[in-house]
Amino acid sequence: MTPDDLRKYLEYYRDLGMKELYRRGHGPGARSRGEETRFAHNISEAPSEASVLPPTPGTQPLAPEGESLLEVLQDIGDCHRCRLCEGRNKIVFGAGNEHSPLVFVGEGPGADEDAQGIPFVGRAGQLLTQMIENTAKKEGIDLRREDVYICNVVKCRPPGNRTPEPDEMEICGQFLFRQLMAIKPKAICALGGTAARALTGRKEGVTKLRGKWLRWRDIPVMVTYHPSYLLRPYNQNAKREAWEDLKRILHFVYD
Ligand code: SF4
Repeated sequence: MTPDDLRKYLEYYRDLGMKELYRRGHGPGARSRGEETRFAHNISEAPSEASVLPPTPGTQPLAPEGESLLEVLQDIGDCHRCRLCEGRNKIVFGAGNEHSPLVFVGEGPGADEDAQGIPFVGRAGQLLTQMIENTAKKEGIDLRREDVYICNVVKCRPPGNRTPEPDEMEICGQFLFRQLMAIKPKAICALGGTAARALTGRKEGVTKLRGKWLRWRDIPVMVTYHPSYLLRPYNQNAKREAWEDLKRILHFVYD
């Protein structure tokens, strides 16, 4: 790689909001693979807040030329870049229409997803499918779950379904961002606080962020509740709000 290639590479990741890059198979969480090998650091001090600002003229293109979802998947490979590799069965990359104008982003795989390698297939996933398909039907929009794209911030199941740690989100988030750049959706629906934080840098809870349009780069982001939160019986009000959020995003994307 020439110095010019390296500079462009680092600029590309800086534009994604990455502060640190790790060589494949290494990283702060890849303890079982030996000593951490950092080949670039502090490439940007850009605040994550920048990701929620409206687009500015001259913003870098959304995708590196020609990168497809398949290439992102191939780059993940048998990933050991963070500690979440230690307990996983399958990497859960994403599923659905790779040309979808709408992408749903959750937090990370649960037990069912880890076993099958497909996102949102457990109880929460079934609720998400119902939410998408029933809301679309009610609103006169012809849409099935397989028409949208669904993925998570981290691709491996956190032990005990814990929330991903910030370093895990940062390392694996590069794949989420590259997926989004390859798909270039018209809008993104962030399911829950972890996805909202990863995409917008905002630290407020979902109740504060939901129902408003935020941004990841120049793509509108609607934050709503994670379906697993809606499964709890005492969250009826949240369920109604999630349906409202979904209606707004479906009309924005498909009208
Ligand atoms: S969570 Fe992401 S970065 Fe960590 S091991 Fe899995 S695929 Fe790699």
